[in-house]
Amino acid sequence: MEPISQVSLSEEKQRLQKQEADATVYLNFMKSHRCYDAIPTSCKLVIFDTTLQVKKGFFALVANGLRAAPLWDSKLQRFVGMLTITDFINILHCYYKSPLVQMYGLENHKIETWRDVYLQYPNPFLISISPEASLFDAIYSLLRHKIHRLPVIDPESGNVLHILTHKRILKFLHIFGKKLPRPAFIQRQIQELGIGTFRNIATVQETASLYEALSIFVERRVSALPVVDEQGKVMALYSRFDVINLAAQKTYNNLDMTMREAVRRRSCYIEGVIKCHLDETLETIIDRIVTAEVHRLVLVDRADVVKGIISLSDLLQAMVLTPAGIDTLLS
Ligand code: ADP
Ligand code: ADP
Ligand code: AMP
Repeated sequence: MEPISQVSLSEEKQRLQKQEADATVYLNFMKSHRCYDAIPTSCKLVIFDTTLQVKKGFFALVANGLRAAPLWDSKLQRFVGMLTITDFINILHCYYKSPLVQMYGLENHKIETWRDVYLQYPNPFLISISPEASLFDAIYSLLRHKIHRLPVIDPESGNVLHILTHKRILKFLHIFGKKLPRPAFIQRQIQELGIGTFRNIATVQETASLYEALSIFVERRVSALPVVDEQGKVMALYSRFDVINLAAQKTYNNLDMTMREAVRRRSCYIEGVIKCHLDETLETIIDRIVTAEVHRLVLVDRADVVKGIISLSDLLQAMVLTPAGIDTLLS
């Protein structure tokens, strides 16, 4: 018979091994799959020449049901960046005066002019990834650069194959990771795990103007704002994506409208606010966020008062990068 101390030692060793295996299950999955594995067999891709007028660029995004497009500089013969809804927000915020004054910059600037004006220290490079790189590398790049669109470029042809997002990567894990051993920590509650942002949440009052909301997007660089009443109770969610409705409906000349009005006017396929509570498990949160196909859940208390945000960035950081000893959300 083994002495008692040796039995408990080997049990302890097994427990530690299990804990380590648990912590790295998603990390290993992401390291062992390529970006190529996560891209669809066919998808619509639009590329803009930087000499295109900015306004036409945003209209083209709307017309094609897209959220972003890589920018091609034909003089340099290479990609130089992306045009995303964040750029639309920055342009509106920069040029808006009042409903009566036309926004010269939006109406007349080419994308290249806007980039010269706006990007004081321009990073003239597109952040991209090779289809052969791992999904771990893609997550690292998205989170480190704090971007939401990562073009996958074939190094041989130079063609953009797809634009990867956090949503696509988590959905890929959700579908193809079903056979993975379920790590014990996904049964733990969000409050124990501390995944998400719980302080200094950027929100907007429903009586505030849409211009004020755009100012918060620009200053805080957040991807969405819970729209709240006077008690801080969440009434709606307004994400950067919703701003493209202003281009679709050609209503970007009236940013004085209230947030209540902006929420009422947007075309949104999601009913109500997708929320969560501190005592829910990580597994429940993942299921809900993947099923709803949204980028974040709004964390509320029992009175629906906003207490935090759990975004796909937080989940990918906690599930994949933290186990690798990398923290991208600190800076
Ligand atoms: P959104 O959430 O509106 O889609 P992002 O957060 O991805 O936008 O974009 C933030 C800023 O970073 C924008 O100015 C955008 O043009 C730029 N950007 C986004 N993706 C890339 C990329 N892959 N390479 C270079 N710049 C990018
Ligand atoms: P993206 O696909 O660009 O990341 P988002 O997920 O931010 O876009 O937003 C897509 C749509 O889903 C928007 O209309 C937005 O208002 C809505 N939405 C996003 N998150 C939530 C949420 N937690 N509750 C309700 N609606 C949401
Ligand atoms: P995202 O841009 O949504 O991928 O999130 C990047 C980081 O910002 C994550 O840590 C989020 O929790 C946090 N975040 C997102 N929206 C807000 C918000 N409205 N207020 C405060 N933090 C936020």
